Amino acid sequence: MPFADCQSGSEIAMVGSVSDPARFTMPLDIVPSVCPHDCPSTCALEVERLDAKTIGRVRGAGENSYTAGVVCAKTARYAERVHHKDRLTVPLLRTGPKGTGQFKEIGWDEALDRVADAFKAATAKYGPETVWPYYYAGTMGLVMRDGIHRLRHVMRYSGQDSTICIALTDAGWLAGHGVKRGLDPREMQDSDLIVMWGGNPVATQVNVMTHVAKARKERGAKLVHIDVYRNGTAEAADIFIMVRPGTDGALAAAVGHVLLKEGYADREYLARYTDFSPEVEAHYASRTPEWAEAICGVPAQEIVDFARLYGRSERAFMRVGYGFSRSRNGAAQLHAATCLPALAGKWKRKGGGALYSNSAIYPWNKTMIEGKDRIDPKVRLLDQSRIGPVLIGEPDALKGGPPVTAMLVQNTNPAVVAPEQNKVIQGLLREDLFLCVHEQLPTDTVRYADVVLPATTFLEHDDIYQGGGHTFVLMGAKAIEPYAQSRSNHEVLQGLAKRLGAEHPGFDMTAWELADWTLKASGLPDAATLKEQRWHDCVIPFERAHFLDGFGTPDKRFRFRPDWSAIGPGFAAMPSFPDHLDTIEKASEEHPFRMTTSPARQFLNTSFTEMPTSVAREIRPSLLMHPDDAAGLGIAEGSKVRVGNRRGDLLLHAKMFDGLRPGVVVAEGIWPNSRHVEGRGINVLVGADAAPPAGGAVFHDIAVWVRPE
Ligand code: SF4
Repeated sequence: MPFADCQSGSEIAMVGSVSDPARFTMPLDIVPSVCPHDCPSTCALEVERLDAKTIGRVRGAGENSYTAGVVCAKTARYAERVHHKDRLTVPLLRTGPKGTGQFKEIGWDEALDRVADAFKAATAKYGPETVWPYYYAGTMGLVMRDGIHRLRHVMRYSGQDSTICIALTDAGWLAGHGVKRGLDPREMQDSDLIVMWGGNPVATQVNVMTHVAKARKERGAKLVHIDVYRNGTAEAADIFIMVRPGTDGALAAAVGHVLLKEGYADREYLARYTDFSPEVEAHYASRTPEWAEAICGVPAQEIVDFARLYGRSERAFMRVGYGFSRSRNGAAQLHAATCLPALAGKWKRKGGGALYSNSAIYPWNKTMIEGKDRIDPKVRLLDQSRIGPVLIGEPDALKGGPPVTAMLVQNTNPAVVAPEQNKVIQGLLREDLFLCVHEQLPTDTVRYADVVLPATTFLEHDDIYQGGGHTFVLMGAKAIEPYAQSRSNHEVLQGLAKRLGAEHPGFDMTAWELADWTLKASGLPDAATLKEQRWHDCVIPFERAHFLDGFGTPDKRFRFRPDWSAIGPGFAAMPSFPDHLDTIEKASEEHPFRMTTSPARQFLNTSFTEMPTSVAREIRPSLLMHPDDAAGLGIAEGSKVRVGNRRGDLLLHAKMFDGLRPGVVVAEGIWPNSRHVEGRGINVLVGADAAPPAGGAVFHDIAVWVRPE
């Protein structure tokens, strides 16, 4: 039952700590909100408020035409997270050795004084670039996520090159399209064929499946899913194409070959809207299905069948996920796949074309939130994905600057989520590193902190949101009082700015005022109006969304031959044409398995891993193995296996699964390190090398050995 995870707006259930039936004799107070988690759906929510501090069930807003009354099961149970017994309540000061998690309670003033003093002392010794404010997408609210830049820019602290999620996908999309936007996802309902490539929305973005279901019901549309293992979306699909990890580019090039060979290419469209040339055609001619089969493992006939289905479907919607970009050749893979809608002229029709992200449709002026008026371009930018090499002082990672000796971490959990975990932990254990972590729950990163600050959840502060996977700006106003002594990211930045002498008008505003300023400066409805409306649709006209007025490239043409030099410094490694780029970490005698670290259905990166119901459903950190591979190694179901490579090793429990190709293993997560048998998590195995052309983490590009324990 593929949609067992969906929670429709009509369901009512009691959850978490809210179990007193008497409460439900009162009329429910339903407050609007927005899911802040790192997910393109950015769902419009309706939250049961039971009293000023307590929520009940969370549902999707039925009136929002994208959310359409559906949220994932994780967020429906959000009461379990916001009222979690382990929520951080007060500021803490480390009392034991680093990493042991021994703390004592302190007051807010003392905590902020200590952080500010540490930043001042570090700056006095090494200069401001020694301080590295580090953040990411634990909340996607613009005020609370991005405000850390204001402190960074005003104080001239080291910058963050935010590569961990979107750098490779952005590069691949921009290579062809020149701008980060595409179809309105609601157009899926007008499609005859939906190709879900390299993403698993049943687990990660359930609303996509709502729109797929509508197209299937009303138009008899087919769903094709392309991925490396038979996940929830594959189960729901009409056709599942299973590629070897890191070989989607070969599949895409061969599909292009068939489209051209069998007359499905739209020659008129190609001439008018793209840089298609005899050289591109000759390249495709060399990429036969048989050539691709040898690389990606998909039988040549299956490739031909898919190409024919794609070619003859008038309205074919390609939704690209992040998964297949998280590879050393990820940007090339994404470019190769997204050449197909242009090759077959799919963009011309409603329901045809592709969507990666719509973030470029939003007209944001983030000057006040981010302190963009104070950016000094000479300040170094450190690669977020390379936090391990940065913290252990590898010179190339430090970009020739001073060591990082002080950090403020908000909205992320690098001890678990960052590549080359052994280096990250080694760095976090450094005695000369001062670490302040502002968090909601005691994550693994919190264990390494010198000062811990308790943070509000999205329900406890005001913020504004944009949907990357749709077209709405949404207001998420404070719904309940902050838990215990927790403070918002913005309040912490205000407290530090005061102590550090950081002056910027943004520090003198409330979160609401920052949201209001930003909305007005961006030409959007002001905060009060947005609160009243709940959301504002920034949808762009059909002609523009379909690039019928030209693509975002300098000559307005889609690029089969990208100008990679305009995208990143590693352009020399990129292929000239849509192709398989043979730069992945290949299986070998020493490392016979290719591995991916795919998202578990009940987790979202490292969020939700603290919820008992999520843990109960995911059970334990496991390694999905083909039974034939397991038998060959004498590994039984449920037994411990050691998985490793030159970066490190860890213990997992084997889980037999025939929905992957022999020679491929999958570890779904991201489980906390502390949930693993030896306290080391899956990112021990992932490299922190920057993938071309512009960096990016390669979570699904790993070669490993597997041994019975
Ligand atoms: S995690 Fe994604 S699908 Fe789930 S409620 Fe949040 S935005 Fe919606």
